[in-house]
Amino acid sequence: MSRRADGCPDPRPGRAPRGRSSRSPPPEPEESAVSDQQDAPDHGARSAPPPSHDHRGLGRELGMFGTDPLIGAGLPYWLPDGATVRHALEEYVRALERRAGYRHVYSPVLGKRELYERSGHWEHYRAAMFPPLDTGGEELVLRPSLCPHHAVIYRSRARGHRELPLRVAELGGMYRFERSGTLGGLTRVRAIHLNDAHVFCAQEQAADEAAAALGLIRRAYLALGIRPARYRLSLAGAGASYAAAPALGRRAEALLTEVLERSGLPWEAADGEAAFYGPKIDVQVADSAGRESTLSTVQIDFHQPERFGLRYTGADGRRHRPVMVHRSIIGSAERAVAHLIERYGGAFPPWLAPTQLAVLPVSDAQEGNAAALAERATAAGLRAEVHGAADGSLGARVRRTRLVPYRAVIGPAEAAADEAALRLRDGRRIGPLRAAELVARVGALVAAHGTALWDGGDG
Ligand SMILES: [Zn+2]
Repeated sequence: MSRRADGCPDPRPGRAPRGRSSRSPPPEPEESAVSDQQDAPDHGARSAPPPSHDHRGLGRELGMFGTDPLIGAGLPYWLPDGATVRHALEEYVRALERRAGYRHVYSPVLGKRELYERSGHWEHYRAAMFPPLDTGGEELVLRPSLCPHHAVIYRSRARGHRELPLRVAELGGMYRFERSGTLGGLTRVRAIHLNDAHVFCAQEQAADEAAAALGLIRRAYLALGIRPARYRLSLAGAGASYAAAPALGRRAEALLTEVLERSGLPWEAADGEAAFYGPKIDVQVADSAGRESTLSTVQIDFHQPERFGLRYTGADGRRHRPVMVHRSIIGSAERAVAHLIERYGGAFPPWLAPTQLAVLPVSDAQEGNAAALAERATAAGLRAEVHGAADGSLGARVRRTRLVPYRAVIGPAEAAADEAALRLRDGRRIGPLRAAELVARVGALVAAHGTALWDGGDG
C-alpha cells in the first residue's frame, strides 16, 4: 500500500486512468476558451497534447529549465523564461490566497529529527526522506513536508476560537529522497517547492474550509486553463488504517465525502492512496502521454494536531483540539509548470507568458517609436521586448516571436500617428491602436488572469 506524506505532488510515475471509457476526442483549440466545461473530467488522453509536447524536451527548447550532472539528478535549475512563468504563477496564487483570508509565513527547510518523529513522518515516511545531517549533538533533516513547521507556528502562542479558522500559507521548499534512476524533468525531482497551506479550525468548520479550498482549486484551474482528469477521494483502503485513531480517520473520510457531494463534481474513491495521517481529495491531471498524477489536494487531518498537542480556547472557556486542513491549490511549482508547458506547448495564456508583448519596428526608422512603446508597456507592468530590424526581416521576427501572445508592428504610418498594428498569436489583426490604448487593453487582459487573447471570448 502506498502512503503519501501530504498534499505534495506524488513523485512516482502517474497511473493510467482505470476502468473508464473515453469519449471520442474533440479537436482541441490552441487557445481554448474558458467555459463551464472546464470542470468536466477529462478521462485521460482527451486533452493530452501530442507526445512532442513532453515538458522535458519543450522546456529545454523554450529555455525554461535545465539540469546538470554537477548539480545532481532531480535538481533542475530555472532559466529566466521559466522563472518568469513560475513567478507569475506564484504571485497569482499568493494574491488568490490573500483574498481568501490566508496569511503567508516562511519556515526553514531543515528541522531537527525530533520534529519529524513528533509529526509521524519519521515513522511512516522515512524511506522518502534524505538521511539526517549529523551536526555533532543533533541531527537535522531536510523536511519532507511543511506541515510540522506550520503546526509549531500555530502553537507558538495560545489560540482562541475567534482566531479560527487560522489559514497559514507558504510556498516552500521540501525534499524527497527519490532513487536517481527515476529522476527527470520537473516532475521527478528531489527538491520541490510546494504551494502549501494549513487551515487550523474547529471540527465543525473543517468541511466548509475543505470546500472553500476545493473552490480555490477550481478557480485557479479556470485561470490556468487546466482541466482535471478526475477528482479522487483517496482512502487508506481495506486492511489499512491511518496513523490517527480509526474513528478519526473515518470521521475525516465522512467529511471529505460530504465536501465532494456538496460540490456537485463527479468523483471516485481510490483505496491505498491516502496520506499516512488521513484521507485526501486529489485533483488528478494527465500528462502528454495520458499518465495521471496528483496536482492539487485537500486533506482533513486529526492526527498531527494530536501529535503536536494543539489547542484553542473555545467559546465555552474550555480547551479544544483544532483540526488541520492541508491543501495545495496548484501543487508544486515544478509540477504545475511542467503541466502548463505540456498543456500549451509554450503558447502560455497572456498573464503567464514570459514575454507578453513583442514590439516589431518595420525598419530602423521606427526604432525610437518601438522603444517608446516597449518602455510604456514595461512601465505599465507588462513584459515587453523590442525585436528590431537588425534581428532580421519582419517575417523572420514574426516567426521567432510566434509564441508571444501580442505583437505590435510599427511601420512609417503608425509611427507618424503614435500607433501600432496589433497582431495576436492566433493570427488575428487588431488596430492600428494608439500606443496608450494598446498598452491599456493588453494590460487589462493580462490583469484579468484568463486564457482569452482578446475581448470577445474566443481565445
Ligand atoms: Zn501538510
